Amino acid sequence: VGQVLKDQVALVTGASSGIGASVARELARAGAAVAVNYAGNPAGAQTVADAITAAGGRAIIVKADVSVEADVTAMFAAVIEAFGRLDILVSNAGLQRDAAFVDMTLEEWDRVMAVNLTGQFLCARAAVRQFLAQAPRPEVSAALGKIICMSSVHDVIPWAGHVNYAASKGGVSLLMKSLAQEIAEKKIRVNAVSPGAIRTPINRAAWETPEAEAALLKLIPYGRVGDPEDIGRAVVWLASDASDYITGTTLYVDGGMTLYPEFREGG
Ligand code: NAD
Repeated sequence: VGQVLKDQVALVTGASSGIGASVARELARAGAAVAVNYAGNPAGAQTVADAITAAGGRAIIVKADVSVEADVTAMFAAVIEAFGRLDILVSNAGLQRDAAFVDMTLEEWDRVMAVNLTGQFLCARAAVRQFLAQAPRPEVSAALGKIICMSSVHDVIPWAGHVNYAASKGGVSLLMKSLAQEIAEKKIRVNAVSPGAIRTPINRAAWETPEAEAALLKLIPYGRVGDPEDIGRAVVWLASDASDYITGTTLYVDGGMTLYPEFREGG
């Protein structure tokens, strides 16, 4: 891999496990200094940071609950103190609180909205404020700053039993596009990555047994469950100058899950 993100600074939220951990490692492999955010798992975050450092990169870990404004403010201050600036925000932190609609509590609804949607608002706002406050470096990055929102195929695919999650990701989609429209003239790019089924702790039940994986594969034309690196590599590209003319777009990284695979035998 060429060092396409050399001399850039990235913050990845929810990076102590799963997709976020892979995104952090891939950004570092592309040359970025990476702040690894975690909420409750410092050991996981430290493992990611140690792997980056061992490979010759630069990393710090930073604790914050992305749904808490004061935490987000302190997190950005810590990143700027450590690395002096920010070029890339990957808003990846997210969770599920699944329930049948009639049984869903307000607490389950609110928690998913607070982390998955309000957390993206708070982090994107802090990033944009930082981008606008710092000097452009066109020799390092064509854009003044880049924001990548981790969404989901469930920003377009309805999901029974998960209305809070699907509503939050649908919200992320239009947050991303509206923000992209508002700040493109400042040379800030805002895009989303929507993963399909990726092998991580969040959806262990869906791939853990051979029966569950077989059922899942019926929904994936490309014939395999995704790996976190599939997402990490897509994020590197969206953060790099190779995608410089792209803003306001959602990149579906899903092995074809959004292609209505049940219609393969239709007609
Ligand atoms: P994961 O559970 O391993 O990762 C989620 C991360 O977010 C965890 O590290 C968790 O600690 C962190 N987090 C949760 N609440 C937080 C908070 N309040 N503040 C800061 N961090 C917090 O699962 P994952 O699959 O790696 O999920 C990462 C993102 O990818 C999520 O936004 C998820 O919705 C999205 N996604 C995952 C899949 C998939 O198939 N795995 C598919 C589509 C979208």
